[in-house]
Amino acid sequence: MSPTSLHQRMMRNNGRGLEPWPEGGMTVEHFEMDFDAQLKLALDLLEEFIPDYQLGERDGSKFLVVCGAGWKNIEAMVAEARKRLGEDNGLSQADHIAFEEIISPLLSWSSDWGFEDNYTMCYGDNCKNIISTNEDSHWNTECEIFCEECVRTKYHEDYFEALVNNPNNANTMLDEDYILKQGYVKLDDEWRASFVEGRTDNPEKLIKKLHEQGWDSVVFHIEDYGPFAIGWSAFVKNDNIRIEGHVGKWYIIGTQEHKGKQLFLLEHQTYGDDAASLIVGQDLNIVLNDVWNGFDDLDLLELADE
Ligand SMILES: [Zn+2]
Repeated sequence: MSPTSLHQRMMRNNGRGLEPWPEGGMTVEHFEMDFDAQLKLALDLLEEFIPDYQLGERDGSKFLVVCGAGWKNIEAMVAEARKRLGEDNGLSQADHIAFEEIISPLLSWSSDWGFEDNYTMCYGDNCKNIISTNEDSHWNTECEIFCEECVRTKYHEDYFEALVNNPNNANTMLDEDYILKQGYVKLDDEWRASFVEGRTDNPEKLIKKLHEQGWDSVVFHIEDYGPFAIGWSAFVKNDNIRIEGHVGKWYIIGTQEHKGKQLFLLEHQTYGDDAASLIVGQDLNIVLNDVWNGFDDLDLLELADE
């Protein structure tokens, strides 16, 4: 039999009873057990043989996560299901087959169920999404796990906060615009972690370096996943910037590309436009001191170069 999902099989008999079986040309003519009865029997058996389970949804279909049980429990459950059908009365051969269709997804590896070491239900309030911890984007806090949908719609503030200055986690779920709106600017550079010999950057060292340069808050953002490499970028907070050789803190009032380099125009956090501005590079080294006309003063640099 073809591996149709448990959900589809249940839906097919949902209160309508007689429906042609789409695959294999088989028609169920005498299936009397309605959807609720099927579900009740399947759940009864689950309660009895699987000590702990989660019944949720994944990709729009019902999905069962088996917890605290193994293949032996599942085999015992199927054996019991067959026995109960055998003792049952009034169920035709076709009914038996149809019922086994409900149980059979539990017999073969399919997308309809999985063990708890690979799947878990989202901890979000009122969320029944089943997360594949290997395949799905998710947020794993120390004791909870949240699906992408919940992070985007309900827990984005906590998620973002957890990303700040964290070398062990990088953003995979929030849009770049979201990060910019939190008062961050994106650095032009990108970094890579690769299994292949060559350039490999260490997120922990990178955060340390950015802090030493004078950036106060850093958030990493995953740019691309390759087969053997991950590329990421960094967003930095646009205020509380420290500049070596200058007192106080600074904030960004402008960004510009100049000769292929990303430059920032900084104003002093206490003195504002009463004091001279600075133009600095991505590493916060000073490109131009004593700036009074914004990026226009870069012309002074050109003159000096000639
Ligand atoms: Zn969720």
